[in-house]
Amino acid sequence: MEKREQLYEGKAKKVFETDDPERLIVSYKDDATAFNGQKKGQIADKGVVNNIMSNILFGILEEAGVPTHLVRQLSDRESLVKRVRILPLEVIIRNVAAGSFSKRYGVPEGGPLARTVLEFSYKNDALGDPLINDDHILALALSTEAELAQVRTYAFKVNEVLKAFFLKRGLRLIDFKIEFGLDSAGKLLLADEISPDTCRLWDTETNEKMDKDRFRRDLGRVEETYRDVLLRVKGQ
Ligand code: UDP
Repeated sequence: MEKREQLYEGKAKKVFETDDPERLIVSYKDDATAFNGQKKGQIADKGVVNNIMSNILFGILEEAGVPTHLVRQLSDRESLVKRVRILPLEVIIRNVAAGSFSKRYGVPEGGPLARTVLEFSYKNDALGDPLINDDHILALALSTEAELAQVRTYAFKVNEVLKAFFLKRGLRLIDFKIEFGLDSAGKLLLADEISPDTCRLWDTETNEKMDKDRFRRDLGRVEETYRDVLLRVKGQ
């Protein structure tokens, strides 16, 4: 697989074209940003952790019946993926109150929820990724009704699979963000990444935060935590 010119560079990844128009190479960086890019830093080897962890989880999800964009891992930091048109939606699942949910609705972090929450943000940096509902999505033609229904079904499935997976490894899946894309045939695929950047994971014994909140909130032991999460995901 030949790597060709860079298509774009995001906050955490670079994306390259290849000699196959249907395949892209993603390259994970150590750059970390938070609060819509206002806080910037580096987390040593984050790119390696996020690449390998995402690929392990995508493999498990594929087996559970959720199609993903992953083709194969190329190296510690790089993976070959199917080219998709990303739906401009952050799909967020919440099992426990935390983060913006706690802030917006005035409920303590760690508080139980009477049901699992699925919410969407409109991926738009200029607008600060505003919360958006199903009607807004359809009114703005960001997806079709069929795609939206499929996204919801897959998102809850991802939650069930990952909750059980992490629990066996001593981690509570508090909430997470996923993204979906459409391939050239219009098939919906789970895309982007699933990592400590995009999940809240709390240690089941100590309740310690084992995710990007350590960077966002200056809690220390950031690199060590990312490494520890990867070891647990690998089952080591
Ligand atoms: N999240 C993400 N990217 C974003 C916003 C949120 O990966 O741009 C993840 C975040 O890590 C958490 C979940 O989505 O696991 C819910 O985040 P929340 O809405 O609480 O926002 P935050 O408090 O992280 O700003």
